[in-house]
Amino acid sequence: MPATFRFALRDLPPEAESLRQEVRQFLEEQFSGAAPVKRAKSWGGFDREFSRRVGARGWIGMTWPKKYGGHERSFLERYVVLEEMLAAGAPVSAHWVADRQSGPLLLRFGTEAQREKILPGIVRGDLAFAIGMSEPDSGSDLASIRTRATRVDGGYLVNGTKVWTSNAHLSDYLIALFRTQVVPDKKHEGLTQFLVDLRNTNGIAIRPIVDLAGKHHFNEVNFTDAFVPDDARVGNEGDGWKQVTAELGYERSGPERYLSSIALIRELVREVGARPDPRGTEVVGRMVASLATLRQMSTSVAGMLQAGENTYLEAAAVKDVGTTFEQSIPELTHALLDLEPTIDSGSDLQQVLGYVTQTAPSFSLRGGTREILRGIIARGLGLR
Ligand SMILES: Cc1cc2nc3c(=O)[nH]c(=O)nc-3n(C[C@H](O)[C@H](O)[C@H](O)COP(=O)(O)OP(=O)(O)OC[C@H]3O[C@@H](n4cnc5c(N)ncnc54)[C@H](O)[C@@H]3O)c2cc1C
Repeated sequence: MPATFRFALRDLPPEAESLRQEVRQFLEEQFSGAAPVKRAKSWGGFDREFSRRVGARGWIGMTWPKKYGGHERSFLERYVVLEEMLAAGAPVSAHWVADRQSGPLLLRFGTEAQREKILPGIVRGDLAFAIGMSEPDSGSDLASIRTRATRVDGGYLVNGTKVWTSNAHLSDYLIALFRTQVVPDKKHEGLTQFLVDLRNTNGIAIRPIVDLAGKHHFNEVNFTDAFVPDDARVGNEGDGWKQVTAELGYERSGPERYLSSIALIRELVREVGARPDPRGTEVVGRMVASLATLRQMSTSVAGMLQAGENTYLEAAAVKDVGTTFEQSIPELTHALLDLEPTIDSGSDLQQVLGYVTQTAPSFSLRGGTREILRGIIARGLGLR
């Protein structure tokens, strides 16, 4: 029998809604004067001091056990915090990769020593993480990676190159997928994950890659005989594929997959609201309806994570539908207002439009491309 999507309508619990007010007030105090174009950068913004203040409020590692510094709150409370941060355009980058996926990965597959050493620092907002999956010839076909971790006394010597590594130049650790064994005709085997200390490992060179908007946020990371000790291995040798697919479930379903253009929606509503007309009303109405639907889908996945269920299929659907929505916002804005996007000049709306127009193509690439997600969905539903 073919599988089906499991999206359940769910109301947020009362404690999540009271938390929302606290987060709004905090963001108002921290961030009220920020320019709209700065808010548009949101999860591109890297600000360790801000992350430490978020940590001090207890909003990093919210669902993790108290013995590692966590707060044992629900995934739906965590959802509300993230939703408010993204809606306000807060600079969450210094903590949220660790909060979203690296910490949960270590909780699930790491050793007790790794958890005790790393998780409290993440919770405080002190440790920033990068994701080392993609390589120059392996993006969508992630299982074809070639960076080798070769066994030596006490650990592994790593040689190869990771690419598009967001914030590697600013981060403390990289969770990296390396090949520890070549198994002919079985590329998903022989892969292993490692917790790489970016600050204290010789043989690692991090080089900037400048993006379409002229900004340096991602990198190429070269490993030349970089020694990674045994105790940096995450999980068993050869279990990397199973672990990395679990990690992608965390990466693909959150509100970041439909809120990347929210700053533009805000500016558009401000503009259209000042001179309401039927066309503007229809466009904004459609956007709000899509947002509400996506939010239901995404909170449903948060509920499944809470229940410990596998969300790989539903997360892929949220990301595909969500990124299609957020990519459409600059086009709809342009069509409605016939407005010239600008960089560093012009109105707030023009500048936000300029920024979102330049970054929107990446929305459906980062975290897995549209075609790959649709392949996962088709397989998950038993259609191929
Ligand atoms: C802003 C941004 C940040 C990123 N940050 C990180 C990061 O921190 N860490 C990290 O590891 N990676 C990161 N990435 C890399 C990202 O995961 C890859 O770009 C993505 O997986 C696609 O891989 P690729 O670029 O090699 O493209 P390719 O895999 O070469 O794909 C090229 C095109 O071919 C299509 N295609 C490929 N295979 C198939 C298929 N089987 N069927 C149909 N179509 C197919 C793709 O959909 C795409 O349209 C980031 C990317 C971006 C844009």
